Amino acid sequence: MAKRDYYEVLGVERNATAEVIKKAYRKKAIEYHPDKNPGNKEAEEKFKEAAEAYDVLSDEQKRQRYDQFGHAGVGSASAGGGFSGDMSMEDIFSQFGDIFGGHFGFGGFGGSRGGEYRINRGSDLRVKVKLNLNEIAKGVEKKIKVKKYIPCKACQGSGAEGSNNTKTCNTCHGNGVVTRVTNTILGKMQTQSTCPTCNGEGKIITKKCQVCNGEGIVKDDDVITLNIPAGVGEGMQLSMSGKGNAARHGGVNGDLLILIEEEPHPELIRDENDLLYNLLLTVPQAALGGSIEVPTIDGKAKVKIDPGTQPGKVLRLRNKGLPSVNSYGTGDLLINVSVYIPETLSDSEKATLSGLDNSPNFQPKETAKEKIFNKFRQMFD
Ligand SMILES: [Zn+2]
Ligand SMILES: [Zn+2]
Repeated sequence: MAKRDYYEVLGVERNATAEVIKKAYRKKAIEYHPDKNPGNKEAEEKFKEAAEAYDVLSDEQKRQRYDQFGHAGVGSASAGGGFSGDMSMEDIFSQFGDIFGGHFGFGGFGGSRGGEYRINRGSDLRVKVKLNLNEIAKGVEKKIKVKKYIPCKACQGSGAEGSNNTKTCNTCHGNGVVTRVTNTILGKMQTQSTCPTCNGEGKIITKKCQVCNGEGIVKDDDVITLNIPAGVGEGMQLSMSGKGNAARHGGVNGDLLILIEEEPHPELIRDENDLLYNLLLTVPQAALGGSIEVPTIDGKAKVKIDPGTQPGKVLRLRNKGLPSVNSYGTGDLLINVSVYIPETLSDSEKATLSGLDNSPNFQPKETAKEKIFNKFRQMFD
């Protein structure tokens, strides 16, 4: 199923300010909140859709990538399973801190989270993927092996050995935040900050898991399947939400960031979505014309060479370039014609050529001179 445009999801203009986006999301989040729509699958989907849209549009970098590359740029392309970009409910509720102000300071919905503790977030994992032009032209599925933090199996990510080895934090009474009242000239002010004793988790481990030393995560090998969309290029970064490192004590996973590297093609040069090929003709081929084979991204193609084709002529094969990552349009294959002049000659070849040089047809015509001169002049414009 194709994803809806994020701006459309939140019902805001493409140039909406951060404040407008936040307000729009706040409205949607309340409207479709699971507590208000128990058992309503459609509301849940809308709730998740809005959260995902806000996740992207509220982050300046992600929003920029989305504006430029669409869903593919933020790792949420719907093609293939890899880039689902789906946010878990935990992800969504952890967003609420900055949406509703304060530390989850809105009463009605807090209950579903069973406390107002802070959720740890795992770090992002960065990988480089090298692709050749054929893979880029069609899009590709790649399996990569990574070393990353995963939840510790021995303690199921809690960091505590056994089930009775955590206790509620005494400092914050499990709230994860401490409230301080200070007197100011404007009256009493309440400030909330993360509990320093439990780091906002609301609980303390009394006996650490031996396997992970109380962290709840361990480093291990993992194989991740990447679905790279067609048309990506050198230096482009894709992200897969939730495929990064696991977080301490059962938090939210970080993202996987995929940096694209492009392998040079032996014959074709990439210029954005176009491909360039230098066709080297023999003197007789250029003079006599004919049908010549050229390489394309999907096998050979034949091009017609007119008799008397000059070096520097550019032939264009439409739609034989690369698809745009935005999924509209395909580039062309541009063929630059050049002519090979023999570097060594036998005596009889020398004699033939000397004879030909006296022939009037071998003297450049005025029109050809002008054309070639204009091409030369363009090089310096
Ligand atoms: Zn605490
Ligand atoms: Zn453990």
